[in-house]
Parts: sequence; structure tokens; C-alpha cells
Amino acid sequence: MSNQRIVGIDLGTTNSLVAFMQGDVPVVIPGDDGLNLVPSVVALNENDQIIVGNAARKYLIETPERAVYSIKRLMGRGIEDIREELKLFPFRLAEDRQPGEVLRIKLGDKTFTPPEISAFILRQLKRNAERFFAAPITQAVITVPAYFNDAQRQATKDAGRIAGLEVLRLVNEPTAASLAYGLDQKQNGIVAVYDLGGGTFDISILKLHDEIFEVMATNGDTHLGGDDIDNLLITIALDDIQGDLGLDVRRNGEIVQTIRKAVIETKIALSSQPAAKLDIELPAGKRYQREITRQQFEDLIRPILDRTIGPCKQAMKDAGVTPEQIEEVVLVGGSTRIPTVRSLVKEMFRREPHTDLNPDEVVALGAAVQANILSGGSEVTQNMLLLDVTPLSLGIEVAGGVTDKIILRNSTVPASATQHYTTQIDGQANVAVHVLQGERELAKDCRSLARFDLKGIPPMPAGLPRIEVKFLIDANGILHVSAREQRSGKEAEIEVQPSYGLTDEQVESMILESFDSAEEDFRQRQVIEARNEAETILSALEKSKKSPAWGQLANGERKQIAKLEKALEEVKQQDDYEKIRKAIDALNQGTMRLAELMMDTAVTTALKGKTMEQADMGESPETGHPVAKADFE
Ligand code: ADP
Ligand code: MG
Repeated sequence: MSNQRIVGIDLGTTNSLVAFMQGDVPVVIPGDDGLNLVPSVVALNENDQIIVGNAARKYLIETPERAVYSIKRLMGRGIEDIREELKLFPFRLAEDRQPGEVLRIKLGDKTFTPPEISAFILRQLKRNAERFFAAPITQAVITVPAYFNDAQRQATKDAGRIAGLEVLRLVNEPTAASLAYGLDQKQNGIVAVYDLGGGTFDISILKLHDEIFEVMATNGDTHLGGDDIDNLLITIALDDIQGDLGLDVRRNGEIVQTIRKAVIETKIALSSQPAAKLDIELPAGKRYQREITRQQFEDLIRPILDRTIGPCKQAMKDAGVTPEQIEEVVLVGGSTRIPTVRSLVKEMFRREPHTDLNPDEVVALGAAVQANILSGGSEVTQNMLLLDVTPLSLGIEVAGGVTDKIILRNSTVPASATQHYTTQIDGQANVAVHVLQGERELAKDCRSLARFDLKGIPPMPAGLPRIEVKFLIDANGILHVSAREQRSGKEAEIEVQPSYGLTDEQVESMILESFDSAEEDFRQRQVIEARNEAETILSALEKSKKSPAWGQLANGERKQIAKLEKALEEVKQQDDYEKIRKAIDALNQGTMRLAELMMDTAVTTALKGKTMEQADMGESPETGHPVAKADFE
């Protein structure tokens, strides 16, 4: 229990807020302008002083080289991650950075890193809270998107530290929104959180069980939000102004900005009125006026809103739930104030969404609830946990260049899984463990995360070593991989940072690619696996011919086996995995009695029809990839 007040902060792309728990109710703390929302805009004025929020907005127009917005997009990102952002947003990067160095943004002739810019926003929120309480504030809970990776979370924590705030917890935004609605009191159920803000759309499916909020799946579009609606209305106004009034003002930054302000006001008015007027003063005494009805507005923005449907469906699919299984729907983000967004959500999830709280405040309110929990304010929810998901599957390369997935994408983190493998070559001393991330069937199409060798396995026939590969993603998202040959106790392990250097776009395109090429991948994998198995059984057969058991077979049996062997040799090189499988099955059937006889001669055999002539095997210097899913015991 601490007497320190802990505040909850929503550090948003477009707007940021600070809230605290007043008795049993979370409330937002207003700024000195009386407004709850602090626009996430930072500017450097003529005297090199930092200006934040509403007051900074005019610099975006007047001295754009001294102002920055949407800095959240650059948090924890490298230059490789933000190509798209640089095309879409006027970020001015300092040129003098070395590769691998953190990004720096120019404001006037000074430069700042993204966490520093975010820290300016946080410091403003901290000041607002300190003025409100007339006491220092040093601890906070800050929210982040559920899909934020390690680097982005770390950058957010850094921003807090820079602002003089100890960040006690980073909470996922959808979890915070659910907390604000008190859904944690419900015990069990599935919640969908639909967040349409200024520049981003996020859909999260959460599962509540035993006071744990588990993120089952997240999806969304990092370039979809209220800005798209504004830009659409601006384009229409500019076209009208040119068509009706013969004025081309596209290149006049100040007028475009005036139009932007006007269309946003109109958009907001249309959320509560059936019609609204656009009225813009133009140069040369001209004036643009137009009335827009809500119906017209809804028809216009429908294509934008429809872009939220795909991600919602995908998230439900990834979470393995149907709309009927979703018990609560929470609306987040200023753009969900638009009535037609609400109907769309209702239609998609077939239930009335929660709308009692302000959608642009709900995340900050939830952060305040979490802050209260941490300060010991509530016994019930004290141990609330939040689980994340891993965005891509993780696995290793197995014989034939195939990916064997060990932890599937969208598994909750922390996660662990174990698979068993064996060797492909007799006497194989080393096993190459190649750690992969991605959805594709072939290793070459996945992202390589790490490689290490499990060395010094004592000589054993192929198929006999029992290699256990264990994957563990800890609560910080760090992947630990260990391999152990269980008969000899040989071990090796490695620590991998799965999210390192992988952009959201890469993740998305990797997921998309895997859908596109799933069929071809599957076929190739089947062929490779069938061929591997054919090799194994043929070489085992070759060796068993030298065993006493072979002599115990009747002449006819041996002839039959030779025929089946030849058949398999023939189809092995073809690309028809079904044919190969059939031939393998036939040979397996045909050598059944041979295998039995060999067992009887007390040979420890691991694979079907395989001899154990130690004498045949020298230690192999070769390193091979493990063979998937050997059957043991
Ligand atoms: P973020 O999470 O990106 O920081 P917010 O949740 O604060 O953003 O949402 C900001 C967006 O919501 C802006 O595009 C703003 O124009 C829009 N918005 C706010 N209020 C309304 C309203 N009443 N009607 C329509 N759009 C709104
Ligand atoms: Mg938001």
C-alpha cells in the first residue's frame, strides 16, 4: 500500500490523457485550457522552448519544421521499420545518424529521439496532474497497443523515465478499456475491443478468466482512422473549390489547414446532428459553403469503415471464436463516436457495444483503474495479469529444409512447447538447430532468428537419439531455445529476441505470403517429407539385409521385399507425394515380419525395419538437421 498517487496515462498517436481514481470512479484530469485531451503534438518555439498539445498545433501550420505529431509511430523503431511512415508523414529525420543508431527528429536546429518527444507529452500530463493535486506525481501506468513489440514497449518506458515518471506497468490499450468498463468483475467471457482512433485501427479479442485478461488475438491497420475521413472531406472541398469557384488552393498550406479544421468540425457535428454546414472563407473575397447531410457523409465514408471488417474477421478467426461467442464489445477511439461506426460494429459482432464512457477517454480511465489496483486500492483485482500473443509462429528447420512449428502464431505469451526429434544419419554427432519465425512451410521462406549446434552426441544409429527441443517465450517476449539429447544428456541452448528488427509490415506480409502460397508450400513439404521417409526406410532395409533376420525369411518373402523396394526407388524421385507414401506403406507392410524377427533377435530398434549394427558405424563428422516427430516408446 502506498500513499503515492499513481496516475494512468493514455499516450496516444493523436491525443494523450491522464486520469486517476477518485474514490471508486476513474476521472480524467483536464489541462490548464480546461480540455481533457492533450493533442500529441510537440513544437519548439522561437525561443527554443518546448510547447505541447493544443498550443503546439499552430506550429504545425506556421513553422512545420519546428513541430512534430504522431511520434508514437516511431517509438522503438529503426530506420528500416519506418519507410512507409516517412512517405506518409512529414517526419524530419536528422541525417547524421549511424546505422543501428536510434532515430532523431529535427525540431528547428535541435534533434530529439522519439522517447524524448514522447517524454515532452508525458511531462505535460504530469504537470497537469501535479497542478490538479498540488503535489508531486512520480509514478504512472502507461498504455500501449497490444501489438507493441519489446522495443516499442521499452521505448515507452524510456519516455516515462525521461519525463521523471516511474512506469509501474505498461498495460495494453484494449485491456485498459475493458477495465474501465469493469469487465474484470465479470470473471469469465470473451471481449472484443474495437479501437478506431485518429490514425490507427486496432481490433483485439480478449479472454477473461480468473481475473486474467488474455489477449487471444489482435489485428488492425496502422494507417486507418479519423485522418482518412478528414482527408477524404478535404479532397472533396478542394475539388469543389476548384470546380465551382475556379480556385486552386491545393498548394496553399495555410488554406488547406483552415479547410482541415473546418471539415473536422463538420465531421464532429455530424456525429450528433442530421446535417452540418461547411463554411470556409477563401482569398479574393470568395467563400466555399456546402451542406452535408449525415446520409451523404455515411455514404462517403463507408469504404473507409469497411476496411475495418477484414481485420475483425481475421482476429476472430485467429482467436478461434465466432461473433456469437463474444459477450462484450467495447468501443474505443474518437472515431467510434460516429453513429454509423457503431451500427457497423453492432452488425459485425451481433450485439450492442458499450458506449457509456467517452471512447477517447476510456483507455486513460482504465489505466487509472490499473494504477489504483497497483497502489493496493482493490483487493479483488490485485493479481490481474495480462498475457500477450506472439505475432508469428516459431519453430526449427528439420531435414529437407522444412519448417517444423513449435509455438504457433497468436499463442499467448509466456508460452512454452517441446518437440522431439531424432537424427537422420547413422553416428551423427551434431544436430543443427536453426530457429525460424514465420508461417511458411519451407525454412528458406521463413525468417532465420538463430542457429546453434547440439554437439557431441555419442554414435548411435540414425533414428535412435531422442532430441528434445524446448521453446520458451518469457513474459518479456524473449525466446529461449534449448536442445537436449536425452539418452546422452548432451545439451545446448540459445536466447533469441523474436521481435528484433522485424517490422509490423514484415510480420503482415509474412502472414499474407503464407496465405498466398499455402497450397504450393504444403505440396512441397509433403514431397520432401515423403522422400526423407523413403530414404530412411530404404537405407534401414539395406542394413537389415546384413542381419541374421534377413536369412530367416523365406525366399518368396525376400523377393516380395525386393519388388517393393524397387517400386519405392522408382517413385521416390517423382513429385507425387501420394505415390511415394503409398510405396512406403507397401514396403512397411512387406517388411513387417522382417522387423519382428529383428526385434526378436534383441536388437534395440528405433525405426521400422532398422538394424543396430554398431560395427557399421563410425562417428559421423556431419551435422544434420533434426528429423521431425520421430515416434518413440
Ligand atoms: P488516438 O487513439 O489515435 O490518439 P483518439 O481516440 O483521440 O485518437 O481519436 C481521435 C480521432 O477521433 C480524430 O480523428 C478525431 O477527429 C476523431 N473524433 C473525435 N471526436 C469525434 C466525433 N464526435 N465524431 C467523429 N470523429 C471524432
Ligand atoms: Mg487511442
